[in-house]
Amino acid sequence: MALLRNLADWAILTHRLYHDPVRRIRSRQLRALVRLVRLARQKSPYYQQTLRGLPLRRLSAFRRFPQVDKAEMMEHFDTLNTVGARKDEVMAYALDKERRRDDLGYWRGRFVVGLSSGTSGNKGLYLTPRSLTRRLPGVFLARGGVRLSDLPLRILFILRVFSQGFADINAPLIRLRYLHSMTPPADILDAFNAMDGNVLMAPPSVLRQLLPFRDRLARPPRRILTYAEVLEPEEKARFARVFGAPVAEIYQASEGQIASPCRCGTLHINEDLAYVELEDEDGTPVTEPGRRPARMLVTNLVNGAQPLIRYRMNDLVELGGPCPCGSKFRTLARVIGRQDDVLYLQDRNGVRRAVFPDLASRWIITTDDRIREFQVEQVAPDRLRIALDLGIGAWDGTVPLPGAEQGIVDALEARFREELAAYDIPCGLDFQVRPIPLPADNRKLKRFLGLPA
Ligand SMILES: [Zn+2]
Repeated sequence: MALLRNLADWAILTHRLYHDPVRRIRSRQLRALVRLVRLARQKSPYYQQTLRGLPLRRLSAFRRFPQVDKAEMMEHFDTLNTVGARKDEVMAYALDKERRRDDLGYWRGRFVVGLSSGTSGNKGLYLTPRSLTRRLPGVFLARGGVRLSDLPLRILFILRVFSQGFADINAPLIRLRYLHSMTPPADILDAFNAMDGNVLMAPPSVLRQLLPFRDRLARPPRRILTYAEVLEPEEKARFARVFGAPVAEIYQASEGQIASPCRCGTLHINEDLAYVELEDEDGTPVTEPGRRPARMLVTNLVNGAQPLIRYRMNDLVELGGPCPCGSKFRTLARVIGRQDDVLYLQDRNGVRRAVFPDLASRWIITTDDRIREFQVEQVAPDRLRIALDLGIGAWDGTVPLPGAEQGIVDALEARFREELAAYDIPCGLDFQVRPIPLPADNRKLKRFLGLPA
């Protein structure tokens, strides 16, 4: 039964992605929104209150609906969800699982609980019904950037955390093995060889650590998929070259499956799974390719357990243009990073200039392949501290850096000076060479640290 359900989902989702005309995409979205809003009004006291008196007969009316952010969602968790879940209870469950490093299982036998990273008191809790996670294999086959010719899939999956949701991807045609992102690089590649893997799934930071061990791979993967972190175009090209496999990105968050690669490797918004609104500062919809919207609002169209309606994401994206695959699903040219990754520096005229994380990442990544990891910290309004992991341990600055490494630091300093000068930004630069380990717990490595507000 499960196999049939998965194959049906695969067929439907594939057909929609490549064949739905815009008109059908929109009508399907409206129907899904009406259904979700009706459910939310019936079963969520929070939405009964906030969505009162708001008609929804056309998509444009949805723009008048109130937005919700993580803080508000968490504050009203108990009345927002439609399944009678209480925040203290679900949080205790999630924290206990995290402490025991037990990633599997369902809360009350019915829900996968996602705990998003954040400072204490700022964590997000997300409920996904088991009925949905059971359907992930079909979704993954249709929207995971894989091809039927890759079947059966033997996936090595690397992340900071595992979840029952990922375990549920295991199906007759998909075998998935999980390793923690702290696993030593050589062991990761040995595991991939041992399972005769054909799909390698890992965050870019982990792939970067695998690069020097590439020769251990018995044969190149058929496909590499990244997620959980921004994939810079230069790194994408480097991974493809070094590992000898096409690289694509999946853009998935606790809030939903936002965008997936098509057969051309372009990131398409999953228009039938998430309703994504891209807006300017003043609320005008952003539709032109190349634009970076000020706001992204996501409404998860398939998860009614915890309706997220016009949920404000913290992510920065850039809209893309039409894709040669023919799909009318909108494309994302790139996922740029999080809003709190933007650094603000002043130019010579005292104007506050935003330095976007993709820009600074590119300067660093393209300067030298031996830079394994980095962190950029703003230590004063006009000063940046740039830490580099060059794989040589820590350097405290009291003895000269070896020539090769000094060359990397010099090249990077010159690059930063040149780039910042182009924006007329005077800025002091300090460099550090030190190991930058990935966090061992449920957090992402923060590469950009702004000044405390
Ligand atoms: Zn496409």
